[in-house]
Amino acid sequence: MNLQQVVRPNILAMAPYSCARDEFKGVASINVDANENPYNNGLNRYPDPRQLKVKELLAPLKGVDVEQIFLGNGSDEAIDLVYRVFCQPGIDNVVAPAPTYGMYQVCAEVNDVEYRAVPMEAETFALQIEDMAAQVDDHTKVIWLCSPNNPSGNAYPQEQLEGFLQRFPNQVVVVDEAYIDFSEVPSMTSMLSKYDNLIVLQTFSKAWGHAAMRLGIAMASKEIIAYFNNVKYPYNVNELTQQEAIKVLNDVPKMKRQVEEILSQRAILCELLSSVKCVEKIYPSDANFLLVKVKDAVQTYFYLQSQGVIVRNRHKVQLCANCLRITIGTPEENATLYNLLKDYEA
Ligand SMILES: *Cc1c(COP(=O)(O)O)cnc(C)c1O
Repeated sequence: MNLQQVVRPNILAMAPYSCARDEFKGVASINVDANENPYNNGLNRYPDPRQLKVKELLAPLKGVDVEQIFLGNGSDEAIDLVYRVFCQPGIDNVVAPAPTYGMYQVCAEVNDVEYRAVPMEAETFALQIEDMAAQVDDHTKVIWLCSPNNPSGNAYPQEQLEGFLQRFPNQVVVVDEAYIDFSEVPSMTSMLSKYDNLIVLQTFSKAWGHAAMRLGIAMASKEIIAYFNNVKYPYNVNELTQQEAIKVLNDVPKMKRQVEEILSQRAILCELLSSVKCVEKIYPSDANFLLVKVKDAVQTYFYLQSQGVIVRNRHKVQLCANCLRITIGTPEENATLYNLLKDYEA
């Protein structure tokens, strides 16, 4: 991929803001370069704009270099940056399968970028590669792929994702792996050394159990990451988040134990729900949720709500008529949900 042709001209040309913490990186005895309050309360100094300590823990875990990692205020920040780095408002477009994660389209609209949604196969949610290829033109900058996909739950085979990287060498292919830790399909991070048009997104919000911390990850070539760093707010990840992330990354086994528990609960809930009368179909899931087709999603949604249980109603989403998206909860929560649905006559 020729980055000069894919990155927006104004981004290629810009001089990034250089903050006090960028210009001096050593250890000083007196810091009077950033107009901070000098009295130490643990938070009086600006945080590390490059989040090096967090990245140094993350890099070996993901098998990438520190310079290949961008950290943001949730992966939502990385999604928005993809538009701001690559897509010229009013001119460029992006292609994505439907249904998928809603933020790709919201950020497209905010950035005035045409969003071309291509329906997946209706029964299996398989990617329709030829249909997507037909939408790609000279102004297509980005192809969005979410694997495992939200809300359908399926992961795409690695060969298929690699097929996109080979077939669209002049587009940026973003693979959003928010749910990858729940899947048996391996992460696309192993392909980063081979494909310079790949961006892999991950997050601390799901398997890592830290949605409130707001920390998202983008991994790509160091050239792409350098553009992300030029465009982001200088101090986009706050100090509390960085400190907490270091704690979280020092206890990988805890995350793995919770993922195992959620996966075993997913199997149990799937089995239980398959015997429930109002349930018509449970889609196979590589994620921490089940997409469940019921007789009447709207009624079932309000029934569960009246009992204090909130599921995600996806009835109005393309190819998801009468579908509810149900996150795997604790064993007790899952049992409560099952008991409510079991007794529900719709
Ligand atoms: C939940 C989710 C995210 C996470 O976003 P954050 O901003 O990191 O919390 C990203 N992508 C998909 C597909 C998701 O479902």
